[in-house]
Amino acid sequence: MLFKNIGASVSRTFDILLFCILLLAGCGAAPKQSPAGVLPEVTFDADSAYAFVAGQVAFGPRVPGTDAHHDCVQYIGRTLERFGAKVEVQTGEVMRYDGEWQHVANICAYLPADSAYACEPHVLLCSHYDSRPWADQEDDYDQRMTAIPGANDGASGVGVLMEIARQWPQLRERKRPVDIVLFDCEDMGTPAFYTGQQRNHTWCLGAQLWARQYSQKVNANAIQEHKANANQEYAFGILLDMVGDPNASFPREYYSEQYAAKYVDKIWRAAEQMGFAHRFVSDKAYPITDDHYYVNTIAKIPCVDVIHYVPGSETGFAWWWHTHNDDMNNINPNTLQEVGKVLMQVISE
Ligand SMILES: [Zn+2]
Repeated sequence: MLFKNIGASVSRTFDILLFCILLLAGCGAAPKQSPAGVLPEVTFDADSAYAFVAGQVAFGPRVPGTDAHHDCVQYIGRTLERFGAKVEVQTGEVMRYDGEWQHVANICAYLPADSAYACEPHVLLCSHYDSRPWADQEDDYDQRMTAIPGANDGASGVGVLMEIARQWPQLRERKRPVDIVLFDCEDMGTPAFYTGQQRNHTWCLGAQLWARQYSQKVNANAIQEHKANANQEYAFGILLDMVGDPNASFPREYYSEQYAAKYVDKIWRAAEQMGFAHRFVSDKAYPITDDHYYVNTIAKIPCVDVIHYVPGSETGFAWWWHTHNDDMNNINPNTLQEVGKVLMQVISE
């Protein structure tokens, strides 16, 4: 396989960084802009996105440490490479809810901009690909100890981002580099039935690792360049979580508004212009501990969570959340397409 552990390619990363800095030094003329108010046409294939979701679910639950998880990393990595992305797997160890060390593997794919735009700040698109090892929202106690299929909770967001990667080389213009980061171990948080010592920050382990490493990298660069503030690589980020339900709707989530209100406005405005206001609704959602929380607070990248939240429901989420019913029966190609088109629009502006 061509994609590799990021630890083994640190010097390569610095070479690329140096190249970007040199390019930046030569970045004089501003790239041409589209006329104001004119939306560039975006394409996004619903069936293709659906097939990418089904492709992941077919491995079985992608629980860290299982063959299904390993094989799914290969599937996602090789597919993204086939679309021309440069793929790396970032690995590390993170402490989990019971105090044991957990191996984490985040899949990072880089989609290059056209050369005129190579110096533009990157956009981060992210989702998680792991499946929750327990169905702890099942009514039946005996059902709770086995892993969920994770069709919506995991595979749906990844499927949308894989289709974006497929469309990327075919866009008329690529106006900014796009980095797709697929986090591991989002859904390893303390199970509802755990009676041992409670720890904080047990969810989003892959995102925590990624955000810490990114933060260390930009701070080290700032010290090297004698700058008071770190130079951010990213303009903003968008996280997708549970974006495939036929009735999905995405309210404006609390942390997204707190840390990235400007980009919530940008995404929700694009959705409205495209006729998807029924999906990207103006309701507010309570704070949700999701990968974006750590991207915002540790990496300091403004990041918006597009998440299917159900106000008034017992858990805040859909009826299938963290149960064995989170399967392909609740994945709708149209929902995937609407989310994908909005993202394509936002990254094309
Ligand atoms: Zn979950």
